[in-house]
Amino acid sequence: MAGELILIVEDNEKNLKLVRDLLQFRGYRTLEAATAGEGLRLAVEHRPDLILMDIQLPDLDGGAALGRLRADPGTAGICVVALTAQAMGGDRERLLGAGFDGYLTKPISIREFPDQVRHFCERARPGG
Ligand SMILES: [Mg+2]
Repeated sequence: MAGELILIVEDNEKNLKLVRDLLQFRGYRTLEAATAGEGLRLAVEHRPDLILMDIQLPDLDGGAALGRLRADPGTAGICVVALTAQAMGGDRERLLGAGFDGYLTKPISIREFPDQVRHFCERARPGG
């Protein structure tokens, strides 16, 4: 089941590299963006199977970026998972309410992260 294309939108270089390395080790293909604008551009161009979206980004908030993805018929159906350090009470509900398909908190669990991603990819598959 490996080989899905995953877009990582994350402005922290260390986090970005960690996520990329974990995903590539599991056989996923990755695209990387450090800003929401670049992430949106890559999403439109490559139509990834899954997007991991940081919330605090230098240009647009991850929630606003999600809104733009959902507004574009070409990217509206992509599974988008929030990847955020925000772990305050109610954040999970707020992000899922905003339309994210899932929610992962940072720091990510190196042991659990690949399986969490696989779970989201399987859910995202049409009919699966
Ligand atoms: Mg950030």
